[in-house]
Amino acid sequence: MIDLPKKMKTQLSVIYMDANATTQVLPQAAAAALSAMESHFGNPSSSHVTGLQAKQIMINTREQVKKIIGSEGGKIIFTSGATEGIQTAILSTLVNAKKTLDTTKKYCLLYGATEHKAVPESLKHWNSILDINAELKEIPVNEIGELDLDFIAKEVPNALMICTMAVNNETGVYQNIALLDRTIRTNNPNTSWMVDCVQALGKTNLNLAKTSIDYAPFSGHKLYAPKGIGFMYVNENSPFTSFIAGGGQESGLRSGTENLPGLAALNVIFSMLTGEHEKTFTPVETLHVFRQQIVTALKQAFPKITFNHSFENSVPTTLNFAIPGFSSKEIMDLFDAANIRVSSGSACSSKVTRSFVLDAMGLPAWQSESAIRMSFGPAMTQEKVNQLCERIGLAAEALVQSCLTINKNIIKNETELEGLMQLKVGSSCSWLYVDKQTKSALFIDPLPELTGRLKSLLDCQGLTLTAVIDTHGHADHQSCRTIIADEFLSAQHSDTLGWPDNTQKTLIDGQEYQYITLGDKWLVKVPTPGHTDDSISLLLCEPVTSSSKVLVIHYAFCGDLILMDSLGRTNFSTSSAPMMYTSLQLLQSLIGNNNLVCPSHDYGNEFTTSIAAEMSRNLLLKQVIENDINSEQFSLQKEIMDNQLIDESGSEIMCGALIGDCHKESVREYDSATLAQAMEQSSDLKLIDIREPHEFSLQHDERFTNNVPLTKLVQFVQEHQHNKKEQFILICRSGTRSHIAAQALGRLGFEHVGHIKGGYALHQY
Ligand code: PLP
Repeated sequence: MIDLPKKMKTQLSVIYMDANATTQVLPQAAAAALSAMESHFGNPSSSHVTGLQAKQIMINTREQVKKIIGSEGGKIIFTSGATEGIQTAILSTLVNAKKTLDTTKKYCLLYGATEHKAVPESLKHWNSILDINAELKEIPVNEIGELDLDFIAKEVPNALMICTMAVNNETGVYQNIALLDRTIRTNNPNTSWMVDCVQALGKTNLNLAKTSIDYAPFSGHKLYAPKGIGFMYVNENSPFTSFIAGGGQESGLRSGTENLPGLAALNVIFSMLTGEHEKTFTPVETLHVFRQQIVTALKQAFPKITFNHSFENSVPTTLNFAIPGFSSKEIMDLFDAANIRVSSGSACSSKVTRSFVLDAMGLPAWQSESAIRMSFGPAMTQEKVNQLCERIGLAAEALVQSCLTINKNIIKNETELEGLMQLKVGSSCSWLYVDKQTKSALFIDPLPELTGRLKSLLDCQGLTLTAVIDTHGHADHQSCRTIIADEFLSAQHSDTLGWPDNTQKTLIDGQEYQYITLGDKWLVKVPTPGHTDDSISLLLCEPVTSSSKVLVIHYAFCGDLILMDSLGRTNFSTSSAPMMYTSLQLLQSLIGNNNLVCPSHDYGNEFTTSIAAEMSRNLLLKQVIENDINSEQFSLQKEIMDNQLIDESGSEIMCGALIGDCHKESVREYDSATLAQAMEQSSDLKLIDIREPHEFSLQHDERFTNNVPLTKLVQFVQEHQHNKKEQFILICRSGTRSHIAAQALGRLGFEHVGHIKGGYALHQY
């Protein structure tokens, strides 16, 4: 475990760097909202004094809006937020267009490829509801996020509407509004043009009167006002249809009693922006200086960092970057542990997170998958920037300490690795085994995404690589075996899977097997063809002596022979189901039913398994092991299963024929009160933080003194194989990882494993 520097043990204050998602309401705005609720709480439609006072707040705010966005003419309508403004603009346009639609013409609706999802989704929605049947067309952007003007010029003559954005929420990239205006109007003076100005407010100068923009939605909560208040600008000549009808508020344009507390808050924010109130907001030039300071700190902390946008055409308050070798999720976890709130800058899908904005800009996949967004607003101060820069350094230091990066700017404090680490990319697994005594290491099935990380671990820990071995030629991914071997094992000759030449041999059950030594352990190679003809299993065990009656196995790395709830597929050109039948029986005869099986995939987040655990849910395997079916019958059943296999699951090829019912163990959930109770009742209770060591080292609840990261969970299972009655309660950041780990332990027979529901996020200890 890492020896924590003192500063890390103290509670770190929260540094909020996700202003593009939403902002904290400033005290002045909160005070104004409170006053509008407690004192000036009138209904602006009432004609008594309390009502008139409320109405005055509205009038003042509308005047402020006009000044801020530079719109003397046109209408300002208060809304619940930008999404409502977007609906209103699209509805107004399409209702008007419907009146004069020429059924012989083909119309389109244009929107920028990097638009907030509210825009294309609303276009789709109203296009269908109103039966317009226009074609939705995405306007491409170039590599720095600028809209393709040639595309617009070509398509806009047939466009009923064009939707663009002033500033992008993921990258801060702004568009040249004057140039867009010229391009659109030269080619279609009558089309309706909406510009989503949400992320521009308070960060760029807007002068809407000087443009031909028809509609511009805005939102209060992106600029220190509460959620639920927004406004939209409507050009005086543009069509309008009320999105909400009713009591006739907002001159009949948007009914419903007005959100006075929100308006009062907005009014104060605008006074601050125009400098009428007090100088709370930082001038744009200073925001540029802040950005530079943060960029410098990030570069120093993560020398390989790549920024995902150009600073030339983006507002200074948004930074979008990627750190090679780390997913967005890993960096978010790290920053969250350092109490820096950032966003992954991408929409979460079930498996890999990608950013459609960065994809549209044509950035490499890894940048999109690793994107992190740091955003702040004009209320940022020099003091907060300094604090942030220091904290970024602290987070990077934690990564270096756990050997996941090497940074010459940071003095390393080595953590000594020992035993087995499971490193995953998606559902594929690489295994790293370290013998601490001899400082030697072994990689099995190294994934290319982990090349940098594996190299860092070797360097940083001062380890000697004994071997890097694939369990078979993988169909679904490249191995980085040769890259690692070339660098660390250049003198070693090996076969195509990396098994070293001239290894020693031993007899087990009268059969000869090759082995290599790693410290005081052996790694025995067992040919287990079936999934592919070159498949092998690697058994990490105690040395075999002439007196050994049974093999003492620590881990059996079996590639894709046995997968969790599944068997490796046997429908590749080099597969053979009859061979798999024999291999399964051979493996079981060598490792028995209860030793740990470590496959090269983990589709269901189960980490590891045993033949016994698999036999309880995999009838086919049970029949093979118990000799209830013969090789032919097995092959027939296997063929049926393989045929049901879906080739691609997202971006992954499934390497195994899934069998199971996906039953998941139910897990006991704890909150602060039930945890305290459990601690009182049992002195043997073990509290385990299952985040990664760098997260743990930055901050943890002092009662959770044990750190068993998910990467070491299999080793934990191995070490506790004979003591499954102990009581464990797990915690992580949000409760997801602790839940998965508790489920996996439960499935493997651990009887009393619970977790803290909601994790550190929901429970302040
Ligand atoms: N447009 C952009 C660019 C945004 O960033 C957002 C909010 O994330 C919206 C629209 C939606 O705004 P609201 O939350 O006010 O509905």
